[in-house]
Amino acid sequence: MRIKNDFAFSIALAGNPNVGKSTVFNALTGLNQHTGNWTGKTVECSKGSYIYNKFNFELTDLPGTYSLLSFSSEEQVTRDYLKKYPSDCVIIMTDANAAERNLVFALQVMSLCEKAVLCLNMNDEAERNGLYIDENKLSKKLGIPVVKCCAVKNTGIEELKRVLFEVCCDKIKCGINHAYIKEIDVFNSSLHKENIAKLTCSAVEICKDCVTKAGAARVNLKTRRLDGILTSKRFGIPVMLLVFGILFWITVVGANYPSQWLSLLFGAGKEWLNKLFDCLCAPAYVKGMVIDGVYTTLSWVVAVMLPPMAIFFPLFSVIEDSGYLPRIAFNLDKYFAKCGTNGKQSLTMAMGIGCNACGVTGCRIIESRRDRKIAVLTNSFMPCNGRFPVLIAVTMSFFASGANKLIASVEVALVLLAAIVFAVAVTLAVSKILSATVYKGEPSGFVLELPPYRKPQIAKTIVRSLLDRTLFVLGRAVLAAAPAGALIWLVANTDINGVSLLKYCTNFFEPFGLFVGLDGVIITALLLGFPANEIVIPIIIMSYMSCTTLTDYTGYEQLSQILHNNGWTTVTAVCMLIITMLHFPCSTTVLTIKKETGSLKTALLSMVLPVILGVLLCAVTANISKLFFI
Ligand code: GDP
Repeated sequence: MRIKNDFAFSIALAGNPNVGKSTVFNALTGLNQHTGNWTGKTVECSKGSYIYNKFNFELTDLPGTYSLLSFSSEEQVTRDYLKKYPSDCVIIMTDANAAERNLVFALQVMSLCEKAVLCLNMNDEAERNGLYIDENKLSKKLGIPVVKCCAVKNTGIEELKRVLFEVCCDKIKCGINHAYIKEIDVFNSSLHKENIAKLTCSAVEICKDCVTKAGAARVNLKTRRLDGILTSKRFGIPVMLLVFGILFWITVVGANYPSQWLSLLFGAGKEWLNKLFDCLCAPAYVKGMVIDGVYTTLSWVVAVMLPPMAIFFPLFSVIEDSGYLPRIAFNLDKYFAKCGTNGKQSLTMAMGIGCNACGVTGCRIIESRRDRKIAVLTNSFMPCNGRFPVLIAVTMSFFASGANKLIASVEVALVLLAAIVFAVAVTLAVSKILSATVYKGEPSGFVLELPPYRKPQIAKTIVRSLLDRTLFVLGRAVLAAAPAGALIWLVANTDINGVSLLKYCTNFFEPFGLFVGLDGVIITALLLGFPANEIVIPIIIMSYMSCTTLTDYTGYEQLSQILHNNGWTTVTAVCMLIITMLHFPCSTTVLTIKKETGSLKTALLSMVLPVILGVLLCAVTANISKLFFI
């Protein structure tokens, strides 16, 4: 229930997907909500506030939806919110380039609220497309104020704030014109077709009077030309591989140096902490647990994870902001269709590259329950932030020739690219199996909107991505690593009959580990890494160190040496890459799957499925390689 405060006005933001709602929300509230140039990225309500003339305006950004008339989950959320929590005013966000389609939606919202303001966004593009909308005429026709704005350039935002204030304080009369929405009942699904027909007629009639078109559409022409290459049969997939290859290469080249600087910094911090604990005469076990357990694990996680994430995510967000992601979905659609599922799955996979839990939540963009479940179950095949550093570390240690730094970085980028291609192939194969067995049925049809390419807001996107994704994920990893560091130190330093608990554990898993091309330490680390995959490498290193404390991280050469000294071969490295890609998702993702699907069985299946595949593939790789090398 919302508690009404005399000095607070509640404002809801509703609109079609990809019309700039998040950008306007950010411009109004100063918050950093994720923006991206593709349809369906906002699947949850976001809240924020701002103060204008000493009044507090509380904003709720509703999930973008094309209509309120049918019954997909986003449409229900938006419709129910508007009905159950009447706001003081609703901002109806519209894209000036698609006035007709947006007006069909605007009229539906108007049928559910008392006061509304129509925000005509993307005016810069509309002008370039030779479109002119007479906002005064439009306002008269609809009976609500109309504000033109260009959210990326921050123009029109002050005007929007002023108009909202005046509407909420009844300084501007907002008399919704009910002539267009008289017989519209968005809650009656049996009237769906009639409603759409009536609303479309009204929208066309309104646009005839208010929109003038002059000149050629330059934006659309550019988009069409680019799409001719980027979505073509011949170049679509190669360009996609090239884009990801370059992305990985920049990440690999860029991450090495900050990693080393960070480790120097952490090394100095450790010396300082040692001195501090000596001064305080702290007992050896406290000193050991805090410095060798918690601090050193944390410094490993940060030094290994932060640099690649701080480079990869901002670059990925820039690509997302340009509008390229839906083209990837378009290119891959036919493969997903062949496997009996939905092309939108590739968008959720792209979200999963950042964090599988986000990818699973993102599966809400898939309307059909069946297709959504398949997408949820296969999302963790995409390597998340926790697993990327493991892939990079192992690849750097075993697959970079080292003769020439440039060649080595290209080799690592190619292996990472191969890992992504492998993940897509496994996703397709498992989707096909699931759609032919457990989730038998026809794949649902879907509409994939290809937005125009837009110049990404590079600086804003980089800052936002660093704050939202990089620091968020790092924070989560640090929260998991700190207690895990203490626990691992404890089990590594608690002896029974002269053998540490950690050693008992690794010895127990050793035979199985060796059978699948790994060893007991790796299996233990994977199991202990359930809260967060980021701690897998620190656990492996700690287990290998004879002194039972984690050494300081000084770069990939040192890591490579430790792994080689502990019996790792190229086969171990290959199996490690496979099992990193194919084992149970982290606990957060499993909980998210349970929450999203409401099914414990699905959550368990999401754990069992990759483990079976990973173990099988590792066992085959290890045993075939034995046949060749013996
Ligand atoms: P949402 O899905 O409605 O939340 O849309 P977003 O706020 O994520 O914006 C979608 C895309 O449109 C992003 O790439 C934005 O940078 C871009 N965008 C937003 N407002 C404008 C605008 O006024 N002009 C232009 N050219 N692009 C905009």
